[in-house]
Amino acid sequence: MHDAERVTLARLPSGVELETTVHTYGDGDGPTLYVQAAQHGREINGSEVLRRLHAELLARQDDFSGTLIAVPVADPITFDRVSYTAPEPLDSVNANMNRCWPGDEDGTLHERMAATLWEYAGDADAIVDLHTGGLEMLPHTVYLKGDAECRALAEAFGIDLLLAEAAGEDADAEWQDRDFGGKLRVAATQEGIPTITPELAHNTELVEDAIDAGLAGMLDTLRHLDMLPGEPASKNATVARNHLGRVKAADSGLFHVDGPVELGDYVEPGDYVGTLYDPTSYEALQEVTVDREGIVYSLEREATVTAGSNLVGVALLLEE
Ligand SMILES: [Zn+2]
Repeated sequence: MHDAERVTLARLPSGVELETTVHTYGDGDGPTLYVQAAQHGREINGSEVLRRLHAELLARQDDFSGTLIAVPVADPITFDRVSYTAPEPLDSVNANMNRCWPGDEDGTLHERMAATLWEYAGDADAIVDLHTGGLEMLPHTVYLKGDAECRALAEAFGIDLLLAEAAGEDADAEWQDRDFGGKLRVAATQEGIPTITPELAHNTELVEDAIDAGLAGMLDTLRHLDMLPGEPASKNATVARNHLGRVKAADSGLFHVDGPVELGDYVEPGDYVGTLYDPTSYEALQEVTVDREGIVYSLEREATVTAGSNLVGVALLLEE
């Protein structure tokens, strides 16, 4: 039922082999689900979700069918640094592992690591890439806009807020500029594998609410794929919204959030969020208001901001 394998992801400059553990459950009959956590190493709640899922699956092995491949620490480099990106000496080209899928076995360190994991992920029938936002981000699940299978997977996972992200030629300039085409979710969806990215809450902390939501989401995903009996819990309240509706900093300075707007609030154009000011002259540089109607799903709480950075994320109602 269960097998755990140590896999070499890449070789470090010192000659040390960078390894991780790949867990496989099931007997090979039926669909294959690939799930990974912590490719952004400080996003640790997904790793704990997979530890608890492991115990659940061993307790339910008679009910389980299909194959689950689970990688609790997809990027040991960023995991050990409790970081989001690799240090420059290790990968100056692809510091963010989630920009280089499906990887390249002859490429940079992160590309090689991704290529190794892609040997497992690339044969799957569905993929869940567990991520974790910060305190400033509402839990949500991202899927490819317009893709019914991805949306069904996201609905099954069951976090209230679904964000549809356009890709390729349908996407905006920011999407291109930030190499979003190299996300595991995007690369896999393009290969015909329905893929979702749940963003739980609270990176760097193990938080019960986030872990519970992640575990329930994984079990419901397995039910959705008929790998466990039963149906996913009803998700009637779920409303899909557009990703990437953002208010940006017009200048650099300190961003003081002193308006009434909080995460999860429904806002309208003109609602006041806070003020961006010059910390030396005290001059107000930008009165930050939202420019659209929707739900606030991210709010910058690290006050030192640079021009063009995202201050507020507002998810718009999706018409599809
Ligand atoms: Zn992440």
